[in-house]
Amino acid sequence: MDLTLSSISEIAEAVQSKKVSAKEVTAHFQNRIESLDGKLNSFTAKNENALREAEALDVRIAKGESVGALAGVPFGIKEMLCTKGLPTTAASKILENFVPPYDATVVDRLKKAGVIVLGKLNQDEFAMGSSNETSHFGPVKNPWNTDCVPGGSSGGSAAAQAARLVAGTIGTDTGGSIRQPASFCGVVGVKPTYGRVSRYGIIAYASSLDQAGPFANNVKDAALTMEVISGFDPHDSTTTQRNVPAWSKNLSANIKGMKIGVMKEFMTSGLLDSDVQKTVENSIQALKSMGAEIVEVSIPKAEFAVPVYYLVAASEASSNLSRYDGVKYGYRSEFKNLAAVDLEEFYGKTRGEGFGKEVKRRIMLGTYCLSSGYFDAYYAKAGQVRRLIMNEYLDAFKKCDVILSPVTVSPAFKIGERISDPLQMYLNDIFTTSTNLAGLPGMSLPFGLSQTGLPIGVQLTASHFEEQKMLNVAFALEGASPVKGKLPHVF
Ligand code: GLN
Repeated sequence: MDLTLSSISEIAEAVQSKKVSAKEVTAHFQNRIESLDGKLNSFTAKNENALREAEALDVRIAKGESVGALAGVPFGIKEMLCTKGLPTTAASKILENFVPPYDATVVDRLKKAGVIVLGKLNQDEFAMGSSNETSHFGPVKNPWNTDCVPGGSSGGSAAAQAARLVAGTIGTDTGGSIRQPASFCGVVGVKPTYGRVSRYGIIAYASSLDQAGPFANNVKDAALTMEVISGFDPHDSTTTQRNVPAWSKNLSANIKGMKIGVMKEFMTSGLLDSDVQKTVENSIQALKSMGAEIVEVSIPKAEFAVPVYYLVAASEASSNLSRYDGVKYGYRSEFKNLAAVDLEEFYGKTRGEGFGKEVKRRIMLGTYCLSSGYFDAYYAKAGQVRRLIMNEYLDAFKKCDVILSPVTVSPAFKIGERISDPLQMYLNDIFTTSTNLAGLPGMSLPFGLSQTGLPIGVQLTASHFEEQKMLNVAFALEGASPVKGKLPHVF
């Protein structure tokens, strides 16, 4: 069995039926991490107990105990998610060496399903960024071309997935942080509907937008992982009480008669790189030839998605990040005589040294937007426009089942190319942020390669809680994808 290229379900089946031990699987992927991650910098911490945990699972299987749907499957988890006993830092100096005493619900559910967590994955600091260059641990390299960024903020998750350093990874998506790196690294990445997946134990960035989701090598693996991590959680009042559908079992590539909306504004923006344009056009042709009907839809207010997103996200971040003060946990500046330091100086020095430049920029912007006298003009107004964007989507979904669009304007860019120009970096999120503002499920599916050999994904979006429709269209497209089975150079 070629473990590296096996799917999640193949690994789980083989472990459960004792064709291979969880310990062998763990050791195989640990070796890959050891030999390849030096080039990528995707892992920030490794789980030293992984082999012992795998052995314990093998013992349970030998005894005939029923183990979960993901028995022995090795996963990597983004730094944003709390993992008991493993560092969780949001890739920020302010949380340096922080080890949480509990697991995020997502991690807890994965472990209960039999997953072996191999380690934590690099990201942009506090998930603020689109290139993984704001990380305290340094940039992650794209496995297809190590001069390029892997995307962000879940860059480590996407890179580790693409290089098959683990069988599955988890990321978070506040404005595109799963879909954009999935597109840049040529893997599947899904952001579920807001409320599908518990945010308990996930470091909060922008609470009304944050959602965790899977990266995977194929659509079925992503669906299977979603089944495990989704569902109501009493610890997160924004999770839905709805049942979790059996997405992976219900996958169907028969999309005959389905209506696929193509967004006028995104296709005619004039911003698209020609390889991206061609990839989206190829996917439209593929959908047509499988019997889907293409309809034009329009979301005119999507034009405001980037400014509205950056207002909402920065405002919520400024509030969420006020808890990092160096008092109870995380980084604290050194003071010669702590008793003589006043609180303002204590906070100022600690936060000044602990946060990176981009995070500070957002805290300042967000604090300004929320300050009295400005709240109505900024945060409240952004909330109103946000509602209008959602209304336009709901109208569009009266005409179609799933919307198809580009994920980003271009394939992965070079490390260092955009980091000094925040506005250019923010504009990178032009096609992904509206999905989060409207709370919709969205995903990226690999469908092309640029002339320079970099992967390009297409984005699918569905109405609230209609993940199955979106996954089915992705499943159909996956079968027709010109890049199916193509592997990155790092191999
Ligand atoms: N690039 C966006 C930002 O910097 C999105 C990040 C995310 O989804 N976490 O806010």
